[in-house]
Amino acid sequence: MSFQDIRAEVGADKILAVSKLQPVAKIRDLYNLGQRRFGENYVQEALEKQEQLQDLSDIEWHLIGHLQKNKAKHVVGKFHLIHSVDSLELAQTLNRQCESKNVNQRILIQVNLAKEESKSGFDKQSILTNWKELCQLPHLSIEGFMTMPPLTETGEEVRPYFKELRELQQKLANSTELARHPLKTLSMGTSNDFRVAIQEGANLVRLGTILFGARN
Ligand SMILES: *Cc1c(COP(=O)(O)O)cnc(C)c1O
Repeated sequence: MSFQDIRAEVGADKILAVSKLQPVAKIRDLYNLGQRRFGENYVQEALEKQEQLQDLSDIEWHLIGHLQKNKAKHVVGKFHLIHSVDSLELAQTLNRQCESKNVNQRILIQVNLAKEESKSGFDKQSILTNWKELCQLPHLSIEGFMTMPPLTETGEEVRPYFKELRELQQKLANSTELARHPLKTLSMGTSNDFRVAIQEGANLVRLGTILFGARN
């Protein structure tokens, strides 16, 4: 499928182009076709690419990879949205760094619905337990949730996880702590399963391989 076909099907506002391990030339090519949102996994690589693409003034960078607490100081204020906030401690660290730099940061809460050992993220229970504290961090704006379900043969097998994330969003959207937090973004679905994700309410799909080809 061409980029144009995918954009026509998914909608331009829903595509996050995942450019990790792809050269900046390919990012520039996609930008020239109209794509503005790009997602990176590794802090060092992302910051280097931001430097190299400084001339693209309306490009929007998202951080989607696991973030170590000791790197929090390098990322606050540098990304439109951080998708991978996977613990209360990380959220608190980001909040402190925001305070010292006098910025606010939009974040998503990463949820590990299948409780896979190999993946980071809050399990559902720990979100509920920590919800109030998360909402009270003054420099963070919680925009919604992100999940990365188990790798499967078909997208259909992960439908229950996408559904579960949307139900969690709906449940928490009614909580009173929320006034300040929009909670409107559901970041779910990759090249493998984006159609299923959209059917289940995704409004940001993270597409790598299908847009850029295989990674190095
Ligand atoms: C790499 C990555 C993607 C993109 O995966 P593709 O299969 O290449 O579309 C999406 N989300 C996260 C968190 C990733 O690390």
